Amino acid sequence: MKVDMSPKAVRERLRLMDELWLLSVKLMNSKKVKVSKTIKSEYKSIITCPECGFQKEEEMPTDSCVFFYECENCKKLLKPKKGDCCVFCSYGSVECPPKQTGNDCC
Ligand SMILES: [Zn+2]
Repeated sequence: MKVDMSPKAVRERLRLMDELWLLSVKLMNSKKVKVSKTIKSEYKSIITCPECGFQKEEEMPTDSCVFFYECENCKKLLKPKKGDCCVFCSYGSVECPPKQTGNDCC
C-alpha cells in the first residue's frame, strides 16, 4: 500500500488525529468523574523531584505501581527508593492506591 503524502492528504490525516485526540480527552474526563465518585482513596499525588525540587500533581493508576517517572523539569528518571514499591511511595505526597487500601502490591 502506498501512502499518500500530498499536503492535502496529510492535512486530512492530522485533522482526523485531532478529532480522535479530543474524543479520548472527553472519554478520560468522564472516567475521572466516575472514579472520584465511587472510590474514596486519593488517586492523585504530588510528586517532588529529589533532584530539582520540581513538583507536579500526577494521577496514580489504581491497579498497578509506577516504577519509573521522568521529571518534567530536569528530565531525570526517578526510581523508587529501596523498600518502596513505586515512585509515588518514595516521592509522592500520598502513598500508592494499593497501599492505601491495605493490599500488598507487586
Ligand atoms: Zn527534577
